[in-house]
Amino acid sequence: MFSLERLVRPNIWHLAPYSSARDEYSGKEAHVFLDANENPYGAPYNRYPDPLQRELKKQIAKVKGIPEDMIFLGNGSDEAIDLPYRIFCEPGKDNVVAIQPTYGMYKVCADINDVEYRPVMLDDNFDFKAADLLKACDQHTKIIWICSPNNPTGNSLNRDEIIKVIEGFEGIVVVDEAYSDFAQQKTLRTELAKYPNLIVLNTMSKAWALAAIRLGMAFASKEIVAIYNKVKYPYNVNMLTQQQALEALKDPFEIDKWVKTILAERTRLMQAFQELPICEQVYKTDANFFLAKMTDAQKIYDYLVDKGIIVRNRTRVQLCNNCLRITIGMKSENNELLAALRQY
Ligand SMILES: *Cc1c(COP(=O)(O)O)cnc(C)c1O
Repeated sequence: MFSLERLVRPNIWHLAPYSSARDEYSGKEAHVFLDANENPYGAPYNRYPDPLQRELKKQIAKVKGIPEDMIFLGNGSDEAIDLPYRIFCEPGKDNVVAIQPTYGMYKVCADINDVEYRPVMLDDNFDFKAADLLKACDQHTKIIWICSPNNPTGNSLNRDEIIKVIEGFEGIVVVDEAYSDFAQQKTLRTELAKYPNLIVLNTMSKAWALAAIRLGMAFASKEIVAIYNKVKYPYNVNMLTQQQALEALKDPFEIDKWVKTILAERTRLMQAFQELPICEQVYKTDANFFLAKMTDAQKIYDYLVDKGIIVRNRTRVQLCNNCLRITIGMKSENNELLAALRQY
C-alpha cells in the first residue's frame, strides 16, 4: 500500500504552515479589509494576492482537465521542482534517481538541498528501460525524475516504460511534461487518479508563450498538492502573473495555432539541416526544439554567435557530443539561421 506519510520528511508532515490574513478570511461579502496591514490607497496592487490562486486554478482545471485541488501553481517550474526535495528528501541521507542527459534543474536543486543525485544514462536512442532506473534505487531513494519530451534530446520517452517505473517504485515519480503541448505522445496527467505517487509538471513558459511571468504547474493527488501548498511561500504567485495567465487562458485556441505553426517550421528546419554538409545527424523530436549532431559544434556555435544568432551548445553534455540544440523560432529567424549555416 502506498503511504505518503512514510515518504514525507517528519518535520514537513507535522508542519503548521504560516496562516496569512488572506487564508483566514476568504469570502466575497466583506468590503472593509483592515486585517492585513496593507495600505488602503493605490488599488489594485495594494492588496495581497490570493495565496491559493483560486480563480486561475479554476481556468487551468478546465483547460487541462484536472480538478482544482490537484493543481499546484508555482513561481515557474523551478519552484515545483525544488519543493519535492524539501518535502521528501532528508539532506545528507536520501537520494534521487534521474535519467541522463536531462534538464539541469533537477541536479541543481539536489545539490542545493544536499541530496545525492543518481544519474542513469539513456541508451543510444535517448530512451530507457524501467528496470535500469529501478536498479539504481535503494531504500533512501525518494524521487525518480523523468522528463518527456526530454530536454535536451527532444524525444518523448517510451510511455510503457514510464508507467512501469511509476508502478514499480514506492517513492515519488515526477514526470516533467514542459513540452507536452507540442508532443504527439499522450500526457500522463490523465493517469493521476490511478497513481498516488505521480507528479506531472507543466509550465506556461513554452507553448503558452509566457516565460516572463514565471508560472509553473504541478499536477498530483490532492494530498501531495496540500503538502506543496503548506511548504510554499504564502504569496508565491504574484497578482500580475495571475492576471496575465488568466488573460492567456481566455483564448486557449490561440496556443493551438502557434503550436501548429511551430511544428510546421520544425519539419522544414529539420529537413534543411539534413541537407547541410556540416550536419551529421538530426535526432527525432516531440518538442519545439531539436538536437543536431554537427561536424564541429563548438566552431559552428562560435560562428553563429559572431552573427548574432544564439543556439544552445550541448557538446559537453554526455551522449550529446558535437550537438547543438535548436529552438524553433519565427520563419524569418529560422531562415536567418539557415542562411548563416549555408555560408559556413
Ligand atoms: C523550459 C523547461 C521548464 C520550464 O521551466 P519554468 O521554470 O517553468 O520556466 C521545465 N522543465 C523543462 C524540462 C524545461 O525544459
